[in-house]
Amino acid sequence: MRAVVFEHFGEPAEVRDVPAPRPADHGVVVRVEATGLCRSDWHGWQGHDPDITLPHVPGHELAGVVEEIGAGVHDWHPGDRVTVPFVCACGTCGACAAGDQQVCERQTQPGFTHWGSFAEYVALDHADVNLVAVPDEMSFATAASLGCRFATAFRAVVQQGRVAAGEWVVVHGCGGVGLSAVMIAAAAGARVVAVDVSPGALDLARKFGAAECVDAGRTTDPAAAIRELTGGGAHLSLDALGSLVTCAASVNGLRRRGRHIQVGLLPSADGTTPVPMARAIALELELLGSHGMAAHTYPPMLELVRAGALRPDLLVTSTITLDATPDALASMGTAPGAGVTVIEPWSRGR
Ligand SMILES: [Zn+2]
Ligand SMILES: [Zn+2]
Repeated sequence: MRAVVFEHFGEPAEVRDVPAPRPADHGVVVRVEATGLCRSDWHGWQGHDPDITLPHVPGHELAGVVEEIGAGVHDWHPGDRVTVPFVCACGTCGACAAGDQQVCERQTQPGFTHWGSFAEYVALDHADVNLVAVPDEMSFATAASLGCRFATAFRAVVQQGRVAAGEWVVVHGCGGVGLSAVMIAAAAGARVVAVDVSPGALDLARKFGAAECVDAGRTTDPAAAIRELTGGGAHLSLDALGSLVTCAASVNGLRRRGRHIQVGLLPSADGTTPVPMARAIALELELLGSHGMAAHTYPPMLELVRAGALRPDLLVTSTITLDATPDALASMGTAPGAGVTVIEPWSRGR
């Protein structure tokens, strides 16, 4: 099969023929019809993820058709249209038993712990625990975005963030996850403030329901601007980018008893990030992490998509071929762009 492969961290990936995967006893192989290009893929390529061994095939937000199943798989069959959370759970550890598959103790992640979906086929583990049926009326490109950015944003805003109508919700970083969060919070009836350094990203945020925008590139103190705009600070604030600056601005922009949700990954040399904890004490803030979303909690989100209240299809701004992927991956570091790029591995381009 054809796949995007890199041999060394940070050096150009290339498209070449590699052996197609076989399913584990509990797993499946999926023919990849669409797979999103995510900043996490760029982090992996840069060597920020200790799970990755070389050579490697990235790609973790995918949708496609079941091609082959392992002998121990009961609920899925070849031909089924499926997607999967980027955290694939084991189904049997303590976290899984509690229903928290998104923090499974023995999780696998395609594109990180094993070869991912920038390829014509991908292997997925513990299919009965992790696969999610894609409705016939949903395109593969739309479904691909659910696995990482949209489901991640949904869990951050709805499940961890407990968004309520009328609240001020601030989203720092309007890439794929951030724009998804803007859309989800607005659909929940929140008043959304989008923060980014890119005017293009803020234009998209406005289109997806942001009531107010803060251009962090033109504001010396975005947190102060947010407190001013919201009459005292956000009820709920997300760092959807993942940086020292956006994390601190998110916490500093909260009102009393506000909730900060850390969604964007925070790579740093020593593995830690300074956070304004004094403010967390004085204002009784909640600081929570959010990590993907368990497959069994997808139905309420899929129902909102089916009803048209959420439109992940609108977030997909470009589709590219496998051949265009190495350059697109490299550009994620400096110019992640606005909106969502989806790779169609079986497309030869138009
Ligand atoms: Zn992702
Ligand atoms: Zn588990």
